[in-house]
Amino acid sequence: MAELNISENVPLAGYSTFRCGGPARYFAEPSTGDEVAALFKWAEDKGIEVFILGNGSNCLISDEGFDGLVIRIAKNMSGLSSEETDDGRVKITCGAGLPYARFGSYCAELSLTGAEFACGIPGSCGGAVFMNAGAYGGETKDFVTKVTYWNGENIRSINGAECDFGYRTSLFEKLAGEGKTAVILEFEAVLSKGNKDEITALVEDLRRRRTASQPLDVPSAGSTFKRPEGYFAAKLIEDAGLKGFALDDSGAQVSPKHAGFVVNNGGTARASDVMRLIDYVVEKVFENSGVRLEKEVRLVGNFGG
Ligand SMILES: Cc1cc2nc3c(=O)[nH]c(=O)nc-3n(C[C@H](O)[C@H](O)[C@H](O)COP(=O)(O)OP(=O)(O)OC[C@H]3O[C@@H](n4cnc5c(N)ncnc54)[C@H](O)[C@@H]3O)c2cc1C
Repeated sequence: MAELNISENVPLAGYSTFRCGGPARYFAEPSTGDEVAALFKWAEDKGIEVFILGNGSNCLISDEGFDGLVIRIAKNMSGLSSEETDDGRVKITCGAGLPYARFGSYCAELSLTGAEFACGIPGSCGGAVFMNAGAYGGETKDFVTKVTYWNGENIRSINGAECDFGYRTSLFEKLAGEGKTAVILEFEAVLSKGNKDEITALVEDLRRRRTASQPLDVPSAGSTFKRPEGYFAAKLIEDAGLKGFALDDSGAQVSPKHAGFVVNNGGTARASDVMRLIDYVVEKVFENSGVRLEKEVRLVGNFGG
């Protein structure tokens, strides 16, 4: 359909920070909520499934790809603006496709404190809300006051409390788990002014800590596993003797730099190689510690079983 700019058979590996996975049967990058709605209608008429992709920094896409319509919420929906509130704070409005790191740096430029951690997270603003992304003690839920989303019938807005945020989860993640439609289009955040030098120093400090401890130059989706209550996934993996471990020479490896990251060394692994290693790590950690790791990374498409 020309006016919706739907492309066919689009390789997705380049849209995933894991740098693997097959094509989308159909692919579109809408510019407005109305276009999102029209794309859902189009997919419904065709009887195919829809997957919403942000920056693909928390997704492992199957080697078979996705046999439906991938709607990528990205640069076409990346508005960014600010407005003073009556109580002297500042309200930021950003499109779901805006890089979350850009939201973080914009806050820093405006001397707003609380979003410094966002500068190092490579997802989109929509993906950050969906996952309640967080780092170094901060979480997206700390400042989100309103989210506008398409619920399959209409575009509606809810406040931060209604987003039901939890550790790496939100109302939107829960709705997706129930097979319901919830496409985040925009969010508002309210932040307080702080000291610009302190904010800049904190952004730099977090960047240094991240670079020192994480394999940022190797394809991955960040932390592969959620933090189990009372433990650290990386420590459990290390204790199981798996830091730097690989099952084969596919490229799938537990990072030698940070055991919590499964990486695609050299970008040569297939999604199935990555998945086999993830499953192996889960089993070995369970054998060693009795703790069953849960994936933070989201699976897209068919992985069999
Ligand atoms: C090097 C590296 C470091 C990382 N560090 C961190 C970290 O410190 N903290 C952290 O929390 N995460 C981290 N991550 C993981 C990732 O960046 C976050 O989970 C991020 O929020 C995902 O956003 P995304 O746009 O890439 O989402 P995607 O990977 O594209 O999608 C993730 C999920 O969100 C859904 N989704 C995305 N956009 C929308 C939307 N607009 N509407 C509805 N659903 C949507 C997708 O359907 C999917 O289920 C890291 C990843 C990498 C590669």
